[in-house]
Amino acid sequence: MTDTTPPAPRTLQEIVDCLPDYDPDALPVARAQAIIEQFITPLHAVEQLALRQSLGRVLAADIRSGIDVPAHDNSAMDGYALRGSDLPAEQMRSFAIVGNAYAGRAYEGQVGAGECVRIMTGAMMPADCDTVIPQELTSNASATRVDVPAGKINPGDNRRLKGEDLTLGKIALSRGKLLRPADLGLLASLGIAEVAVQRRLRVAFFSTGDELRSLGEALDQGCVYDSNRYTLYGMLTRLGCDIIDMGVIKDDPSSLETAFRTACENADAVITSGGVSVGAADYTKQIMATLGDVAFWSIGMRPGRPMAFGKIHSNGKSAYLFGLPGNPVAVMVTFYFFARNALLHMMGATVPSLPLVKAVSPATIRKRPGRTEYQRGILSYGADGRLEVAITGAQGSGILRSMTEANCMIVLHHDQATVQAGEQVDVLLFEGLL
Ligand code: AMP
Ligand code: MG
Repeated sequence: MTDTTPPAPRTLQEIVDCLPDYDPDALPVARAQAIIEQFITPLHAVEQLALRQSLGRVLAADIRSGIDVPAHDNSAMDGYALRGSDLPAEQMRSFAIVGNAYAGRAYEGQVGAGECVRIMTGAMMPADCDTVIPQELTSNASATRVDVPAGKINPGDNRRLKGEDLTLGKIALSRGKLLRPADLGLLASLGIAEVAVQRRLRVAFFSTGDELRSLGEALDQGCVYDSNRYTLYGMLTRLGCDIIDMGVIKDDPSSLETAFRTACENADAVITSGGVSVGAADYTKQIMATLGDVAFWSIGMRPGRPMAFGKIHSNGKSAYLFGLPGNPVAVMVTFYFFARNALLHMMGATVPSLPLVKAVSPATIRKRPGRTEYQRGILSYGADGRLEVAITGAQGSGILRSMTEANCMIVLHHDQATVQAGEQVDVLLFEGLL
């Protein structure tokens, strides 16, 4: 594994100084996303992995094709290879079968006018042939002759061309690609057994709050079980991060400072939940502020208004910090819309934007312009065959059930007002969201 030092990033202050109307207390979602994007520098740490191990990793260098795939023209069908110029124009023509071509076992002989070769899918095309007539279109086949009909196919049909999948010397996969099953197959088709990928991100996380209890502990009066560490565990694992679960940290300055320092010294990014709003016992913000370059935002969104973002330092190490709100739904929404992209960016991944789908809302959804809302929805096909979406009941930011019942998020954009019944809304599907 090799680590190289990334270029020095700009400070958050330098970035926000370039924004004319930056207001940390009323920051639109898109602004916050842009600031985060500018502040993050990708990690440059590469390791060489066996192909199977590279699933879900980010490609660290372009892959050029060292061969043509397929390496030869070959047949796309089971049938008979012949010369396209021999195809009959008006009536059935009888061809002499002069040999067989199997996948992996070519026909080496010549094929003359009025002759053909019985050929299997994937078999190399005989040198003289450019066309394959599928078996099911032929008739009266014997070991030596077959009838080929007129007007069913054109010269060149059913032939796969050399290099039509991948061409020698061309880029087959670009650096930054998050490797999925198809990519593993494609790399295998090039004969590549090992690939250079970015190392996994290490992400430390903990929950803050005196009222939180971990699983296995008794639930004292006024307390709740810590659920955020489990949603974070799930989301980070899906993203392919190495995780460091640091448990629940009490609202106490010295415990918090120790936790932040430990996290910072051992991880590339630190994610906390809770303690970033205006509550009295929230020392979290104070400690974050003393440890680095951290902005505290009130974002124009619902759920998930308060959030801290920046970079903290401890004993010569540094880590990006995401101080997410405490409410369970807010944690997930801020993770998906801010931390997810940032972490992918840190991994050096090329991140395609998540596609939004349009669906009809049969009900009115109240909304005021000036903030982005992420309502939890259930997308289905209506009686008229069109996609429609309904919200999952109460949308409070503490109601995690609204997330488990949902299969999508309804995105109500910053400037959007109340959605009238029957209007279309943008929907982000959960499937595919890492
Ligand atoms: P805070 O931002 O710390 O004021 O937390 C806001 C709300 O989220 C409070 O009701 C907390 O009890 C709740 N909360 C904070 N952290 C967690 C957690 N890890 N699991 C479940 N609920 C939490
Ligand atoms: Mg709290």
